[in-house]
Amino acid sequence: MIDSWIQSKIGLPQGEALTRSAIESYQLERLRATLLRAKSSSRFYADKLAGIEPGDIADTSCLAGLPFTFPSELTEQGTGMVCVPASEISRIVTLPTSGTTGEPKRIYFTEADQELMIDYIHHGLRVMTGPGDVFLVLMPCERPGSVGDLVRVGLERMGVKVIALGILPPDGSRDAEVLELMQSEGINSMLATASAAVRLAAADIQAKKGCGASMRTLLLSAEYVSDEGRNFIEAAWQCEVFEHYGMTEMGLGGAMACEARSGYHPREADLIFEIIDPATGAPLPDGEPGELVFTTLTREAMPFIRYRTGDFSRWIPGDCSCGSVLRRLDRVGDRKLLKGY
Ligand SMILES: [Zn+2]
Repeated sequence: MIDSWIQSKIGLPQGEALTRSAIESYQLERLRATLLRAKSSSRFYADKLAGIEPGDIADTSCLAGLPFTFPSELTEQGTGMVCVPASEISRIVTLPTSGTTGEPKRIYFTEADQELMIDYIHHGLRVMTGPGDVFLVLMPCERPGSVGDLVRVGLERMGVKVIALGILPPDGSRDAEVLELMQSEGINSMLATASAAVRLAAADIQAKKGCGASMRTLLLSAEYVSDEGRNFIEAAWQCEVFEHYGMTEMGLGGAMACEARSGYHPREADLIFEIIDPATGAPLPDGEPGELVFTTLTREAMPFIRYRTGDFSRWIPGDCSCGSVLRRLDRVGDRKLLKGY
């Protein structure tokens, strides 16, 4: 359970129970510090947050009174959001946008920002893998600091053997080679997009070689996952499928399914999520679907304040059967949730 990791990250003494109020008072303190830093270190936030006194924020519900940050602002004024000198930037990720201008988004990271993701992998993935496992990474991993590379470092820190191949071509031209590798290396855990995992499982069934026989757990990320896709993979390989939601702006990792696999627990020591009405911007009560908005609490290079993801989810009401006190987001992007929008 990632609660013990969150507990140590928020500085709660060992033996003291992690509670909602402990998380929220930590978040409030980090939110104030983030606003203060953003205002004083970046042109963009100095303008956006003019007139806002971070010290006056009395609780995290005050977030609703702060302005949103839109993806379009990231393309127009991205560099204006950076809060550290250029010499402290260790990685810049350029993301294409679907807009008509064609201006890409650029997301800036310091080394400490990248360490946040490595640490998340190191602790957050314990639910599905551990020392002695052989883990296949089918995400971009060629460059240092790319998502697959950070996952590799985090898992190796846990004592897992990692084979990082990168993204497979969508035409399936490398699938047979990957299936053989799965068999020869005894790969028992994997990170992939849903489309790649479904394609590999289907190719394995067709080839009748049972290359996925040792597969025990599989993590799907970066794409919407349907129940059909998840069930197909689980049946083909007799493995347990976990789902993750995140995006580069979030620092890659966002929220992950637990062993109960009923919703995704956000990493609440690094991020505050909100669900808002996309038309009015008003916060929505638990259970009601709306747009997912996040605020970063620990990022150095480029903090995000109320960033509009354009993704849809809802808070699942009630406690999770895994015993975690972390909140639960429903599967992001599920069409059922989009009705009415
Ligand atoms: Zn749970």
